[in-house]
Amino acid sequence: MRVIISGLMVILLTVGASAEVPSVRLNSGYDMPVLGLGTWTQDNATAEQSVYTAIREGYRLIDTARYYGNEQGVGKGVRRAIAEGLVSREDIFITTKIMPGNYSDPDAAIDASNNALGLGYIDLMLIHQPGRNDEGVYAALERGVKSGKIRSIGISNYYTPAEFERITRNAAILPAVVQNENHPYYQNEALRKYLERYGTVVESWYPLGGRGHTHELFGNEALREIARSHGKTVAQVILRWHIQAGYVVIPGSKNPEHIRENIGVFDFALTDDEMRTIAGLDIQRRFESW
Ligand code: NAD
Repeated sequence: MRVIISGLMVILLTVGASAEVPSVRLNSGYDMPVLGLGTWTQDNATAEQSVYTAIREGYRLIDTARYYGNEQGVGKGVRRAIAEGLVSREDIFITTKIMPGNYSDPDAAIDASNNALGLGYIDLMLIHQPGRNDEGVYAALERGVKSGKIRSIGISNYYTPAEFERITRNAAILPAVVQNENHPYYQNEALRKYLERYGTVVESWYPLGGRGHTHELFGNEALREIARSHGKTVAQVILRWHIQAGYVVIPGSKNPEHIRENIGVFDFALTDDEMRTIAGLDIQRRFESW
């Protein structure tokens, strides 16, 4: 069974933890799971193991980047799951990113990521952040789509409509995804709403507040109260909020218990009141500056 989330309409499921993660249809025509695994700060060996563990737990979306230095490990973890018959290549959605150090030769960067992953094609490739020649990098991503190396393309760390318009002014293919910092203390609803007209989906990095800041969110009394009332953890409530608010979410973890916990968000739903309470926590506080 494949469950599709069309636009903002979240189809709520009452299912067990091993059930399939719902997907959103991208403007490229491909389906992207609404929850996946983040792998930042994981070395190759760690990423291989956490990716394999996540796939066994039902994850189908994996987020990596050239900058993380773990594309090989991510690819190995996926290939191990395929070899064991857990999934096929088509079941998996791999995101990677071109890093600023490679913006002068983006075509080579696409090939390097494809080779490191060893999965035949890249499901989604993003420009990691604005930088010199990023419009040229975007054109290279479009060439990558035409030559079948990449299926969907997007951008990361572009926070305003003006930045989006600049990078797309000569684009033939619109970004399928914008991946930005986003969590209850920094909600960029204006951008998400603006991007609806293009069918561009926003994906949240630092969904739990990120490295060194999760305790600030986990200690929030309003979130703790909502978690208590559902018999869920605060992490699960936050992830559920992202999904119900219309975001794709990629919590990072190498801990098998957290990996399992973080996918356990499809057997409950936040009420409209709870969604409003969490929307009200926005204090426009970004934890990073890039
Ligand atoms: P996050 O908000 O997902 O938080 C990760 C931290 O929370 C880790 O310390 C982890 O151990 C802990 N954690 C995870 N699940 C938990 C749980 N259930 N209970 C308690 N603690 C838990 O931050 P992140 O991993 O940095 O961000 C998510 C992903 O986004 C990254 O792994 C990466 O793939 C991506 N990312 C992209 C950019 C970008 O510039 N495009 C920047 C940062 C991160």
